[in-house]
Amino acid sequence: MPQPPPRPLAKRRPSRPLQVGSVGVGGDHPVSVQSMTTTRTSDINATLQQIAELTASGCQMVRVAVPTQDDADALSTIAEKAQIPVIADIHFQPKYVFAAIDAGCAAVRVNPGNIKQFDDRVKEIAAAASAAGTPIRIGVNAGSLDGRLLAKYGKATPEALVESALWECSLFEEYDFRDIKISVKHNDPVVMVNAYRLLAEQCDYPLHLGVTEAGPAFQGTIKSAVAFGALLSEGIGDTIRVSLSAPPAEEVKVGLQILESLGLRERGLEIVSCPSCGRAQVDVYKLADEVNAALSGFPAPLRVAVMGCVVNGPGEAREADLGVASGNGKGQIFVRGEVVKTVPESKIVETLIEEAMRIAEEMGID
Ligand code: SF4
Repeated sequence: MPQPPPRPLAKRRPSRPLQVGSVGVGGDHPVSVQSMTTTRTSDINATLQQIAELTASGCQMVRVAVPTQDDADALSTIAEKAQIPVIADIHFQPKYVFAAIDAGCAAVRVNPGNIKQFDDRVKEIAAAASAAGTPIRIGVNAGSLDGRLLAKYGKATPEALVESALWECSLFEEYDFRDIKISVKHNDPVVMVNAYRLLAEQCDYPLHLGVTEAGPAFQGTIKSAVAFGALLSEGIGDTIRVSLSAPPAEEVKVGLQILESLGLRERGLEIVSCPSCGRAQVDVYKLADEVNAALSGFPAPLRVAVMGCVVNGPGEAREADLGVASGNGKGQIFVRGEVVKTVPESKIVETLIEEAMRIAEEMGID
């Protein structure tokens, strides 16, 4: 019944661990999921409300944008009241880096491509971050690559992204600051995957994976799943952010599902449902949706098979914790491989819920 322990597909790339507040990143820490708020950070209530929603959806760290002084002023309250570590996202203005560190943010993200005079301020930033124990993410983006590197490479190639990131790291390293994680994001998953592969070979900093500007929900989900899947299956990646033109809780849902699919995170509810075909003797889509809705939030890992007929139905249902194989207006209900009852089609969903509750009770879960 319990799922096997999470296991990576390839040996995890060794990386130096760091702490983003309560969440460990890199080293042996599990790959974490993060997202970013879409509210004005200066609107403290709206931002905290969205962070609460993200926390409820399983988000482990959250980034907030800091484009103005009002946003910087809001950071201390947000960092104090948020349930998960808050990361300040700083572009253009080094002064907000200091504000974020002072405000108690769990980490700061800087973009070397667009922080003017950043090189000159590195010493002070390293000193402030070091004193406060605040890690820094060097976040290189294809869309805002340093002009010198664009001139050198002609466009945002994997080599250009990696050179930008490692050059910025070297500035911090001069001051013995290594509490760093890195991202090298591109909107093209192939370029992005190659950039991270290259980066992984050249440093031992933990890596934050992201396909930037990945697009609307469907396209962004596919791009992220493909790119993260390739990298994570090679052991590359320590924290992930799925970028979607969709509410941030959707990003978290996709991120968690990617990790669960790779066995890098304990599975929650997993519905194994057939695609249906001409043999189906029940409306599989409707039944799968109903079972998914009814068991959503189930407090234990549970694999539930919903099958449309008796061809593959009994086999799949047997492999699951709980399952139904439909046929002739009835559903055979399986629990851990045994048929426990046969019920009319109208009773399938409620019977599965009853059996799920029984399983939870046996596991000592309320
Ligand atoms: Fe078709 Fe049955 Fe397979 Fe579902 S389980 S796809 S209905 S053959």
